Amino acid sequence: THFGFETVPEAEKAKRVYKVFENVAQKYDVMNDAMSLGIHRLWKDMLLHVMHPQPGAQLLDVAGGTGDIAFRFLDYVRSQQERQKRRAARSSQTPSWQEISDNYSSEDELQPSRAVVCDINKEMLRVGKQKAESTGVSAGLSWVVGDAEELPFDDDQFDIYTIAFGIRNVTHIDQALQEALRVLKPGGRFMCLEFSKVTNPVLARLYDAYSFQMIPVLGEVIAGDWKSYQYLVESIRKFPSQEEFKHMIEDAGFCSVQYYNLTGGVVALHSGFKL
Ligand code: SAM
Repeated sequence: THFGFETVPEAEKAKRVYKVFENVAQKYDVMNDAMSLGIHRLWKDMLLHVMHPQPGAQLLDVAGGTGDIAFRFLDYVRSQQERQKRRAARSSQTPSWQEISDNYSSEDELQPSRAVVCDINKEMLRVGKQKAESTGVSAGLSWVVGDAEELPFDDDQFDIYTIAFGIRNVTHIDQALQEALRVLKPGGRFMCLEFSKVTNPVLARLYDAYSFQMIPVLGEVIAGDWKSYQYLVESIRKFPSQEEFKHMIEDAGFCSVQYYNLTGGVVALHSGFKL
């Protein structure tokens, strides 16, 4: 209809997606805050809260862009580690079973937590890497160019696979889900944040008006790029509903698939496990 993304052939879609993110990379973080009124930060925090990763966990963040999920992950794991250390120090006299096991898991036995940010777009990664270097949080992070549909990793490598606001950009979602399953260790968890279907009809109308009318305007004003942001709105609209996407994750072979609606379904958090 609008930008014509619906009618472009598959091979064309990937190229256009690449261009969109190449164009917006430099302004990506600012735009995220502007368009979501800062709320994307809460959605990402919520992902970490539900994930509750423990020291030693290995994360793969696909379509990781400028690294928001990976930064939060390492932060969270560090705070967990500090907590466990403090608890152990407080009760070094007569440790409980809980403390014995916490100490055990946070000391030398485990490899340190790592987060791998994988994205198809090297511009997005470059901006993320720069951010990590300038804020001094590069330790434990790696940045890898790669396609969600054909991940450059061996089987059974990661405890957690995340994809935040990335899967709707992928041409073959089923293929990306297969790859997620492949690279996760048995017992590993798949977690996805994505724009979804607003459940409340009043909120739905407000949201429609906001996204169709405001987002391309903000794109033009802040990034000088109407079309990229028009694409964004269209890709959100075309993405499957919460239930449909849940079934796709199950069809790929994940177990205990669940989702949570955030902000009335503006965003959904899907989760599933590899057995
Ligand atoms: N996860 C980050 C966040 O939440 O801020 C970035 C999300 S951004 C909206 C979408 C990202 O998906 C872009 O960086 C884009 O380059 C990436 N992407 C698109 N298609 C991809 C693919 N097939 N494989 C890997 N990354 C892809």
